Amino acid sequence: MFALPFGVTTSRQFARTGSKAGQTAGAQRRLRGGSCQTAAVVVSRGARPRDPARLGTPVARSAADDPVARSAADVSRLAASAEDLAELDARSSCCRACPRLVAWREKVAAQRRRAFATETYWGRPVPGFGDPAARIVVVGLAPAAHGGNRTGRIFTGDRSGDWLFAALYRAGFARQPTSERVDDGQRLDGVRLVAVVRCAPPANKPTPVERDTCRPWLVRELELLPARVLVVLGGFAWQSLPPTLARLGFLIPRPFPSFGHGRSVTIAHPDGRRLHLLASYHPSQQNTFTGKLTEPMLDAIFHRARQLADAE
Ligand code: SF4
Repeated sequence: MFALPFGVTTSRQFARTGSKAGQTAGAQRRLRGGSCQTAAVVVSRGARPRDPARLGTPVARSAADDPVARSAADVSRLAASAEDLAELDARSSCCRACPRLVAWREKVAAQRRRAFATETYWGRPVPGFGDPAARIVVVGLAPAAHGGNRTGRIFTGDRSGDWLFAALYRAGFARQPTSERVDDGQRLDGVRLVAVVRCAPPANKPTPVERDTCRPWLVRELELLPARVLVVLGGFAWQSLPPTLARLGFLIPRPFPSFGHGRSVTIAHPDGRRLHLLASYHPSQQNTFTGKLTEPMLDAIFHRARQLADAE
């Protein structure tokens, strides 16, 4: 084990700290050596690397000795053997299994948007964020190119995230009404945010193969969480869940209900557990600007989610 700079820890060291996995500023780290370095070489070009120790919480999710998934088989193997959320976060953050998405996320990170030209983009898969003991899990589509792919935290630094975190704050799940950077002090209680696909896709559209390749990361995350309610944002995430939950042993109704805002379905596990799925329109600008999704509509979703979680 080599010494890591600025308080950076490996995933196993991170697990031993007892820190809340995914709650910290550790999405960015100072990368060096090892196979998990490749992305940073691209995203750091021409920009000043960000130092995790200066982000407020000097804990990193991944280190240069974390294994890198380069194929669907690697993803399956590394996800299934991740012992805890910290290890899962670290391993998924190094993933390079989807060539198209790897190329896109790194191209966006290297080019950057003018407004963020002085920033170093994360440019890597974005792990889940929030409470490791969450009973409510919010499932989104994928990180935004200049949101999560920039900041390293899901739904952070983009308009959709502004809406989502404001709603979580109003519902009492978030410490702050905004989520702008990994060092902003945001923390979630009772809720964790995850994406069906962990890399930003071109035009926000992952392919079915990319969705399926990424699935084991989500399967393992849901396996490690005591989730009772999934708040599912948008039709893509909704449709992707039956195979994910089937892998966890849940009994999937056939036909599976179609997506619709406010729609819910409860599925059972042979061991007696139940899981409630609650659908919501995605807080995309397309939906919020047009009034298809309003604040009261989203508030009602989280109110219902809390009721369902408390009843279990
Ligand atoms: S989308 Fe998922 S499986 Fe594909 S490279 Fe990103 S993290 Fe890996």
